[in-house]
Amino acid sequence: MAKLFEYQSKQILRKAGIATPKGGAVETAGEARAMATGIGGAVVVKAQVWTTSRAAKGLIRFADTSDEAADHAAALLAETATSGLVNRVLVEEKVGIEREFYIGLIIDDHARAPVLIFSGVGGSGIEEIAHQHPDQVVRHTIDIRTGLREFEARDICAQAGINGKLMLSLSALMLQFYEAARGAEARSAEINPLALTTKGDLLALDGRFTIDDYAVFRHPELGIDIAREFDRAPTQLERVAWNIEKGDYRGTFYFAQMDTDFHRGEKVIGFHGNGGGGAMINMDALLRHGFRIADFVDTSGNPPASKVYRAARLILSQQGIDGYFMGGSGVASQEQFNSARGLVKAFMDAQLNVPAVIRIGGNGEDQAIAILQRANGEFPAPVEAYGRDTTSDSCVGRLESLVSSYQSVDEIKPRPAQPAAEPYTFETITGGTITYDYAVCRTCETKACIDSCDPKILSLDGDVPKLNITREEAKRGGCTECLACEVECHFRGNRGGRITLPITGLV
Ligand code: SF4
Ligand code: SF4
Repeated sequence: MAKLFEYQSKQILRKAGIATPKGGAVETAGEARAMATGIGGAVVVKAQVWTTSRAAKGLIRFADTSDEAADHAAALLAETATSGLVNRVLVEEKVGIEREFYIGLIIDDHARAPVLIFSGVGGSGIEEIAHQHPDQVVRHTIDIRTGLREFEARDICAQAGINGKLMLSLSALMLQFYEAARGAEARSAEINPLALTTKGDLLALDGRFTIDDYAVFRHPELGIDIAREFDRAPTQLERVAWNIEKGDYRGTFYFAQMDTDFHRGEKVIGFHGNGGGGAMINMDALLRHGFRIADFVDTSGNPPASKVYRAARLILSQQGIDGYFMGGSGVASQEQFNSARGLVKAFMDAQLNVPAVIRIGGNGEDQAIAILQRANGEFPAPVEAYGRDTTSDSCVGRLESLVSSYQSVDEIKPRPAQPAAEPYTFETITGGTITYDYAVCRTCETKACIDSCDPKILSLDGDVPKLNITREEAKRGGCTECLACEVECHFRGNRGGRITLPITGLV
């Protein structure tokens, strides 16, 4: 999910009509001074980071003068810069607080509905508030067809013991808050604290919004460049991975780097999960065997082979890993032969130079294992494949043994492009190009590309393969990028088929 910073969340709230303290986000100490001067009087300087308990960590500071605000901003910006976090601070007026409230909204997957949570007291988090003041916390499930209605908002206030004029202003704010969260397609949103100031105004002193990953593309105004919940700035590879994911919603591809400071020989593994929960079990097995993990990658939800291919290329691009391990739940419903072909093509193109152990259980398991085992010997490093009946620990044990005995090859080079003498080409949905070299195809006896093409979009035209749909249809998704025509051609045909799948930003 895509977390927004406080200053971004407050922009959404203001747009919905909810008041926030005077001020704004700045990137330099000089801008902080100017902002504080413009506000006039005491200000608060807040680091724009996703960590919780910022006050306790010294990431929120108060200043009586604009010079003091500039000093605090300089210190916070220096601190956040060294930790790799976003370089912004929020400078806002310091307000006198009469009373604090909490208001939040989450999408409750069980209820399949948004739930508004309100508390008549504030605190550092809703869990703490609920623990200390259980009678003050009101939960209200919202009917998405009607949205939050005025009488419901007033009832929420009444349940929290709030009546009179305050009830009217708070219930009006609740409606604005619901519309703000709904408009931004937030998975969760909160204002904490929502303050009643000594002047009698309701002000959102802090705000947090988390946007649904799959809604991000509808909200360019939010400026989210990567819809992932990182508590640090994304790495270059994570940006590359997000670019792949945001352009292809077939299945899911999650990529997070966990360790970037390692060298060959330090037992660091490139990890590739294929099914969330099961992936965790396999990671635990790696840790138990003394491995470190370079990344957490998960391709699941029946991704096309091309997505698995790109995931594998990213994992292998991490210099210094000693091995490659894929593991999932063992009973995945996705078509595992697609994952196997994606891996085989990635290992061929990158010329795999670390041992790989693949535990690939579930739908199409036997076929997937056969595809991987057949490819062993095609690259410098060995590949072993196992199914659900082999435990994660056994698979990791095999990886351990292969890593300790493998001598890596110096100067490995990616597989060179093969110019076709008589090319027949068409494009795929993610910008790939499929090429059949008719000069080679003519003498091919198996025509393996034809029968291995699952959507059956290839036919024989005389003695060469040709699309039986238009090129436009192939590009719109008629070609599912299963990669079978290249992989099967390589192992059963004349090697006249080749697919290039660009990965923007991968060096
Ligand atoms: S299997 Fe390969 S060489 Fe044979 S016809 Fe198909 S693309 Fe051409
Ligand atoms: S042409 Fe057919 S076999 Fe080749 S990648 Fe596309 S869908 Fe797969």
